[in-house]
Amino acid sequence: MIIAPGSTIGIVGGGQLGRMLAMAAAQLGYKCHVYAPDEAPPAAEVASRFTRGSFEDEDALARFGVGVDVATYEFENIAAGPLSALAERVPLYPPRKALDIAQDRLSEKEFVAALGGRTAPYAVVNGPESLREAIETIGTPSILKSRRFGYDGKGQTRITDPAEAEQAWAAVREAPSILEGFVTFEAEFSILLCRSTSGEIVAWDPPENVHRDGILRSSTVPAERRVRERAEAAMALARTIADTLDYVGVLTLEFFATSEGPLFNEMAPRVHNSGHWTIEGSLTSQFENHIRAICGLPLGATTLTAPNVAMENLIGEKAGQWEAILGDQTAHLHLYGKKEERPGRKMGHVTRLFG
Ligand code: AMP
Repeated sequence: MIIAPGSTIGIVGGGQLGRMLAMAAAQLGYKCHVYAPDEAPPAAEVASRFTRGSFEDEDALARFGVGVDVATYEFENIAAGPLSALAERVPLYPPRKALDIAQDRLSEKEFVAALGGRTAPYAVVNGPESLREAIETIGTPSILKSRRFGYDGKGQTRITDPAEAEQAWAAVREAPSILEGFVTFEAEFSILLCRSTSGEIVAWDPPENVHRDGILRSSTVPAERRVRERAEAAMALARTIADTLDYVGVLTLEFFATSEGPLFNEMAPRVHNSGHWTIEGSLTSQFENHIRAICGLPLGATTLTAPNVAMENLIGEKAGQWEAILGDQTAHLHLYGKKEERPGRKMGHVTRLFG
């Protein structure tokens, strides 16, 4: 089904991903209706309509669904009930199944492993006793990650010594978790692809990503050889996942490049921070192709627009450097309009294109 320009796209979640989706949608002549719990979220400022509501409010999400032609989400932590209330009223992309899997680190790992992907060794943790057993099996150093509701390094803690078990269990707020073996990697990278309603897939050059304190700092394209050598196998896995899920929209998979090949870390059924560089660095951005996909339109080319593209996140006070950044003619500055600056908060990003 084609959702023609002029129609209204519903976006659940109001952060910068929603903001950039709404801007891409506007370029193609669509209107966006943003649904989010915050008072003045970044996406609402560039959308034609905003509804303030909780992600738990089934009735409000059902009403939201009635007023839009197609719906998508930029935020993953929406419970199954409210999501069903929305999906019963309007086509929702990416498909529910992808979200259900990605919301739980355990089901995500099991799903990917069943399709031939390699993951870090892990064990399920449901309480202090099973954490002790998991530490015995997996060893240290390892990372305890809550199965649900984690992002940007939240809901996870490193364990370097078995004696830290109690502290670690408190750090994940005693939530069902997994203990993951610490991976020695040469680099981190992501696969970003977009699949249309007819099953066509386009993919971007895999960016090499640098994280600090669990937060993405930079993405660079083309990646170094250590990533390029592992990208083909990672891409094949990503395609299999997308086809298996009959996926529609942008899908992101994060990998570690290791001596034994790509190792799957996690997936996000949405546009992703490591793809922000595609706005200027690719003929069609992740945001535009996501909109095209969910509206049943043909996808755009993902060719690079410059030999080298580098995206740097402006985190916390770094966004204050906007004037200096604008002094660099190769820099494309994006600010998300967030009023409150907090340490670790993503305030904007800058993408540089060079020869
Ligand atoms: P995640 O929330 O799982 O994406 O983790 C955020 C970041 O923490 C990753 O991008 C890595 O830099 C680091 N990290 C997560 N899991 C592991 C692991 N098992 N071994 C080593 N580093 C990890």
